[in-house]
Amino acid sequence: MVAFACNICGAWNEVEHFATEPATCACGSNVRLRALIHLLSIELFGQSIPLPEFPRMKSIRGLGMSDKECYARPLAEKFDYTNTFYDREPRFDSSSADESLWGQYDFILSADVLEHVGPPVEETMQQLCRMLKPRGFLGVTIFCAPSDRMREHFPDLHEYRVLPLGGSQVLVNRRADGTLEVRDDLIFHGGTGATLEMREFGATALREKLSASGFREVEFLVENRPEIGILFDSDVSQPLIARKEPFAMDKRMISELVAAYRATQHAKRKADDRVVLMNASRWMKWGKKIGLGPKV
Ligand SMILES: [Zn+2]
Repeated sequence: MVAFACNICGAWNEVEHFATEPATCACGSNVRLRALIHLLSIELFGQSIPLPEFPRMKSIRGLGMSDKECYARPLAEKFDYTNTFYDREPRFDSSSADESLWGQYDFILSADVLEHVGPPVEETMQQLCRMLKPRGFLGVTIFCAPSDRMREHFPDLHEYRVLPLGGSQVLVNRRADGTLEVRDDLIFHGGTGATLEMREFGATALREKLSASGFREVEFLVENRPEIGILFDSDVSQPLIARKEPFAMDKRMISELVAAYRATQHAKRKADDRVVLMNASRWMKWGKKIGLGPKV
């Protein structure tokens, strides 16, 4: 039995083991989503903070790709964050992002998405890289084959539809050279049609493709954090951060963080001692990080 405090909703849970699905917290989070928020927190704040305790900083701009409601909603409260979808508004086509979006985001989250975008996947990775600010980063979770083998299921995809035939679905593709291909060995994730699995990654190929798409550093999460519900026993997803330049707060972010600190000082008297103590050590770290010196 493992006891943990969910870093997405704050709830206390006890679970037998961390299966890939279903969720292991009532908020809907699983191991890889908690890992993604853990990585986001470390990248932005230099420490792992539960999402409900993130400071409110509207100067940080983020974009979600079909993020789950359990963390999309709090992210929208904390940051200038927009969740997007491939099949409804606000719509976002990751393979052909508008130029007006280039260089706009501090972070982009892509949880279990890169295995579903059309080939070549590098096109999507390059677009996401362009959309990030020079110090922006991409947070990813993705299934990676334990064998480390990369398999592209439909490399010649060009003009295609997934169609019902009898009791199942088939993919009909007209290749670029005009020839037709019909496939019925389709794998769907959590539905049909739009969530067709296009590929299975291996960690090595994933790192190489991100690097080739403009990311300077790719850092995989390799350690378990069972106390916040991150224990990769049966889930072979690979949470990672892909950076351009390492993230650093700009002046506007720092002044927001200082304002948030002052607000907690003000509310301090009402809080119980344990919470105050915890916040104090957190603020000490932040103070050092943003150069505020010992008084913070
Ligand atoms: Zn939770």
